[in-house]
This record gives sequence, structure tokens and C-alpha cells, in this order.
Amino acid sequence: AGKNEGRDRFVLYDELIHSDRREQLIVGSLRKAMTDYKEFNLVYQPKIALATGKVEQAEVLIRWNHPKLGFISPAEFIPIAEKYSLIHRLTEWVLKETVHQMELWKKEDHFIRQVSVNLSAMHFRSESHNSMIKEIVHHSLERGGELHLQLEITETSVMENLERALMMLGELKQLSLTIALDDFGTGLSSLTHLKHLPIDILKIDKSFIDEVPHDERGTAITEMIIQLAKSLGIAVVAEGVETLEQHEFLKRLGCDYGQGYYYSRPMNVKDLDQQTIERTVRDVG
Ligand code: C2E
Ligand code: MG
Ligand code: MG
Ligand code: MG
Repeated sequence: AGKNEGRDRFVLYDELIHSDRREQLIVGSLRKAMTDYKEFNLVYQPKIALATGKVEQAEVLIRWNHPKLGFISPAEFIPIAEKYSLIHRLTEWVLKETVHQMELWKKEDHFIRQVSVNLSAMHFRSESHNSMIKEIVHHSLERGGELHLQLEITETSVMENLERALMMLGELKQLSLTIALDDFGTGLSSLTHLKHLPIDILKIDKSFIDEVPHDERGTAITEMIIQLAKSLGIAVVAEGVETLEQHEFLKRLGCDYGQGYYYSRPMNVKDLDQQTIERTVRDVG
């Protein structure tokens, strides 16, 4: 037993050093990559209207291809960008690029009409963070009229800064942005507060969708969230839909939108194809 313990401790220590080194490596590379942003690109994952099979909305997700380390997941580098105060500038880049893409799409009457951008959990830590969004939105409106931009925020980020978040969300709503509550069900849920939040969409977290329809608890929670959204009069999205069975079940429950690998992976702009995505749904009827 003594020997094993020693080995486990060694492994743990080794992992710690490794993760600390990797963090330093990533933050250094991130700072460098954020000088010209050439290593980043944006991919779009469609949201399918379950009642009709139509796709008019997508979520934008950042991708980072590091010249030596290869593809690094946002699940790894976003928390590091947050820790080292780089996230605000990164969000600004994502927003600008997305708005630019949306303007191009609008001109060519592209099928994607609304795009959602993820906001960091840090966003509601300071009032000043809204001004960057305001500026980008105003510039776009000056250039061309309407902008159907949506922001995805998490429950936790709102609940941690409730008063400021309410004020800031009010400002964002005045810009005609719509707000989605991402990863719903995993955060510091407070149904009391939910009533006061200016939310347009609830996104049911993938961890519940994973259990649909075979696990009773995950399925019950999913049904409950769909009912909750309906009684609040807001739309509901299921994230991480991977199977036909999940799709059929969610559609039957009256879930408004589905998003997940079953319909489409996040795609580069040039690979987004309306027919391909809509066919997935139409073929099953
Ligand atoms: P999220 O906002 O909840 O995004 C959903 C994640 O689930 C994405 O991972 C997406 O690729 C993945 N996903 C979608 N459908 C499926 C499915 O059917 N199966 C599986 N296994 N996964 C699916 P991704 O792109 O790796 O992003 C992870 C997280 O990183 C995001 O979670 C979001 O919190 C954050 N993130 C990504 N891009 C941005 C960004 O531009 N800004 C900020 N602040 N955060 C971002
Ligand atoms: Mg999201
Ligand atoms: Mg999500
Ligand atoms: Mg998620």
C-alpha cells in the first residue's frame, strides 16, 4: 500500500506541475495570438426549430489552432483568458467578427438570421463591460439597420452579481439584443430571481439532454424546464442533442429548438448548408 500511495502522490504532483506549465504556456501563447487574431476562427452551430425543421439561428463558438500545440479547446483557454483578464478583448473580437459576418449574410439573404454569442462569466463583474457591446451594436445599426444578435449568459454569472447584472441586462435589452440563459439547470438556480430576469430563451444543459429519454431523473428535469419556459412565456432550446430518439422525444414535449451533433456540428461559414441540415430533420418526418 505504501508503494502505491507514493506513486499516486507522484502522479498528482507531476500533473500539477504539468497543468501549471501548460497554463503558463497557454497564457503566453494567448497574449501573442491576440495581437493579430490569425490563429482564431469562428464556427457556427445551427439551432433547429423542432416544429418546422427550419434553421434560422446559430450559436457562434471560438476555435484556436495553435501552431505547435494544435487545436486547443475553448473549455481550456476561456477560463485561462478569464483568469488573466484577457477575456474582455477576446469577447470584443468575437463580437466584431460575428457582427461583420451577420452583415454579410444579411446582404446575401443567407438562411442564418440570428446569431448568439457567449458572454464570459466575468461580464457582469463591471458595468464598463457593456460599453464595448453598445459601441459595436451602434456601429452596425448605423451601417445597416436591423441586427438580430443574441447573447448567451449563465445563471451563475447573473446570480453572483445580481443587482448589477439586472441593470446591465436592462441596457442590453434596450439595444434590442435578445438574451439566452445558457447551461440552464446547472447553476445557482433561483426560480424566484428567474421571474425578474429579462430572459428570452432558456437553454437546457446537455447533461440533462444526455439522459433523455432513458434516465427518469434527467428526463423529468428536461420536461420540467420546458414547462417552466412555457409558463414564463419564453422559448426553450435543448443543447447537445445527439440522437434521433432525443430529437423525437424533445419535439413531442414541445421543446422549441434543438442544437447538437445530431443536426449539425459547429461549422465553418463555407460549410454551412441549409439543405443538409434541414434534411436531417425532414427525413424522419
Ligand atoms: P457552450 O456555450 O455551452 O457551448 C456548447 C458546447 O457544446 C460547444 O463546445 C459545442 O461544440 C458543444 N456541443 C454542441 N453540440 C454537442 C453535442 O451534440 N455533443 C457534444 N459532445 N458537444 C456538443 P465548445 O465549442 O468546445 O465550447 C465549450 C464552451 O466554451 C462553451 O460552452 C462556452 O462556454 C465556451 N465558449 C466557446 N466559444 C466561446 C466564446 O466565443 N466566448 C466565450 N466567452 N466562451 C466561449
Ligand atoms: Mg453557449
Ligand atoms: Mg451551453
Ligand atoms: Mg455548455
